[in-house]
Amino acid sequence: MFRATVLTLYPEMFPGALGLSLAGRALEAGSWTLDTVQIRDFATDRHRTVDDTPAGGGAGMVLRADILAKAIDHASPQGDGRPRLLMSPRGKPLNQERVRELAAGPGAVIVCGRFEGIDQRVIESRGLEEVSIGDFILSGGEPAALVLLDAVVRLLPGVMGNQISGEEESFENGLLEHPHYTRPQLFEDMPIPDILTSGNHAKIAAWRHERALELTAERRPDLIAARQPRQK
Ligand code: SAH
Repeated sequence: MFRATVLTLYPEMFPGALGLSLAGRALEAGSWTLDTVQIRDFATDRHRTVDDTPAGGGAGMVLRADILAKAIDHASPQGDGRPRLLMSPRGKPLNQERVRELAAGPGAVIVCGRFEGIDQRVIESRGLEEVSIGDFILSGGEPAALVLLDAVVRLLPGVMGNQISGEEESFENGLLEHPHYTRPQLFEDMPIPDILTSGNHAKIAAWRHERALELTAERRPDLIAARQPRQK
């Protein structure tokens, strides 16, 4: 079973959006588990301070190595087979391939940064894998952790009713998905493309593939370039 443990200064942010809909039902059904660890519980001073000024000067504060390391060792003791992730804009951008790998594994220990980030020595000594959700800066790692877990949980066995739709989606075949239509047949003078109501499944599949290729070439030429030669 997929077990997620999130280290955060804001445990109230969880399960948040993951307590609803598909992920929430799966959580209730016990298809995955979610625990939070309050990093502040590992502070030792009277004021429960977790951050300090950056060595070398500059703006902002940095999460202290000693406190965060204690929290990690508590959440993920030696022998815990789960990957330890640090949500970080410096990380490798998250993609569907990594999401699928994570979903196939035992779970994840996820560290959410705050302030300017965390002390580099924890990243190294605790083997944290930095994961980014895109080239922009959030105020904390929590929304990024929610994003990552949402993407993973929907792939867990039994979570998505319709497995096939998961396999046909954007990125699963290296392409963006074709456009969708549903009733009404006519919306503001715009009909559903004829082919989709023709009942000819081979032609529909070919049409969808063509649209997916077109859309991907236009919006994400990088995805086309990255495809295997036999897919082109
Ligand atoms: N000073 C840092 C940004 C800190 S933002 C820098 O310039 O790299 C505070 C925290 O938000 C980070 O520690 C990280 O946990 C989280 N965060 C911000 N942007 C993120 C992103 N794009 N992906 C994942 N986590 C992010």
